[in-house]
Amino acid sequence: MTGNPADPRAPQRRLNAFPVFMRVEGRVVVIVGDDDEALAKARLLGQSSATLRIVAETPSEALRAWASANGAELVERPYARDLIGDAALVFAATGDEPRDCAVIADARTLRIPSNAVDRPELCDFFTPALVNRAPVAIAIGTEGAGPVLAQMIRARIDRMLSPSLGALAALAATYRRAAESLLPAGSARRDFWRNFFTGEPARAMEVGHVSEARRAASRLLKQSGRADGHVARVGAGPGAEDLLTLRAQRLMMEADVIVHDALVPEAVVAMGRRDAERIPVGKRKGCHSKSQEEINALLVELGRAGRRVVRLKSGDPLVFGRAGEEMAALREAGISYEIVPGVTAAFAAAAEFELPLTLRGVASSLVFTTGHDLKGEALPDWARLAVGGATVAVYMGRSIAAEVAARLEEAGLSPATPVAIVENASLPARRLIHGVLADLPLLQDRADLTGPVLTIIGEAASAANTARSEPLFAPAEAVAA
Ligand code: SAH
Repeated sequence: MTGNPADPRAPQRRLNAFPVFMRVEGRVVVIVGDDDEALAKARLLGQSSATLRIVAETPSEALRAWASANGAELVERPYARDLIGDAALVFAATGDEPRDCAVIADARTLRIPSNAVDRPELCDFFTPALVNRAPVAIAIGTEGAGPVLAQMIRARIDRMLSPSLGALAALAATYRRAAESLLPAGSARRDFWRNFFTGEPARAMEVGHVSEARRAASRLLKQSGRADGHVARVGAGPGAEDLLTLRAQRLMMEADVIVHDALVPEAVVAMGRRDAERIPVGKRKGCHSKSQEEINALLVELGRAGRRVVRLKSGDPLVFGRAGEEMAALREAGISYEIVPGVTAAFAAAAEFELPLTLRGVASSLVFTTGHDLKGEALPDWARLAVGGATVAVYMGRSIAAEVAARLEEAGLSPATPVAIVENASLPARRLIHGVLADLPLLQDRADLTGPVLTIIGEAASAANTARSEPLFAPAEAVAA
């Protein structure tokens, strides 16, 4: 009995088309065709260093423009066999079956591998969906089963790989000899390459510092492949997994250790490398957690042990995230670190409400504040900014909402100023609440709001979409009804 072809448990099937990488440097590749199909193939092959010859009796404008912009030879006469004699590969892309067949028949006679666009039965080979980080290439083939599937896979792989991977791989090639002669085969050499591709050389290359990448690689070689520790302070965004940046995810995939706050959801932490150590450091209101000093000491200790650490912070790591202290501790200990920005809660909250944070003629500045600096008699500076028309985003403001409202009114802000409140912005448990400044004290008594809450105050909030939000102030009769 033959199994169900769709059964995922079926023994591994064999490939009918086997992927290979063909040398085309300095060789001629011929594309026969006048229009879009020929142009698509030209674009694909244009990613290689092959010499392209496009045979087009009546080339379209776009094809002609592409050929001249990309240094391809354009032969404007009818196809003839002598035009493919020196080719390494031939593509028939005329869109016309008899013409394609004639080209393929000639290629077969001349024993040149050939491909006919959209005619798999005529093809000696298929062209893959391609992720190009030359000299690194990832080719995706489905034997024609699904060009859309191939493109989807291509897009996913493309996101995973740093744009600078090609440059890094080119640099790696220049270190291969040295690594082989200086480091014994085995763990030292493996460590060298692993740290080369994910450590300091990779980080330098990512920001375009080629000579620094080279110095870092040489240092790594001297240290027999052992890398220094590194801490990436990474913004995890407001909570939704897909609001993580591609860089954040890449670093999490490369981390040895992920040190995260309680506010970062489990699902986001889980996006890191499977075997990375995960250390929660608390920071949830009311619960015991590590003190900032303990966290600083932990990061320094991990860095000294040569670990690659991701310090995962909710939102953006430089907004209300004790960044100053942590960076100072790392600097003092001489441990390298970097900062990866994230989507801060104010942006996620504004997005939920479709609230323009700046609004022409209404609000042209934006304040990120926390109500927790409301000590003493003096009005905070941001109260004056609010009166001047700034939009104010209040972090950690739920438990002191009354104080914030009182101080703003005292500074002269109208009690009728709109406010927009979001709990759990970007998360499925999101809740939106709207009202005016005079109602804001009610927020303090809302024990039902257990998630993080962000409050936006300012005239710009009048342009928000309140279709999905509940009013902050519910009149008694409405509640009774
Ligand atoms: N670095 C973070 C802020 C940390 S302070 C950032 O840039 O967003 C913690 C406060 O952020 C919370 O008290 C709350 O005011 C806000 N916050 C964080 N995530 C939130 C979310 N998903 N929804 C609403 N507010 C959030």
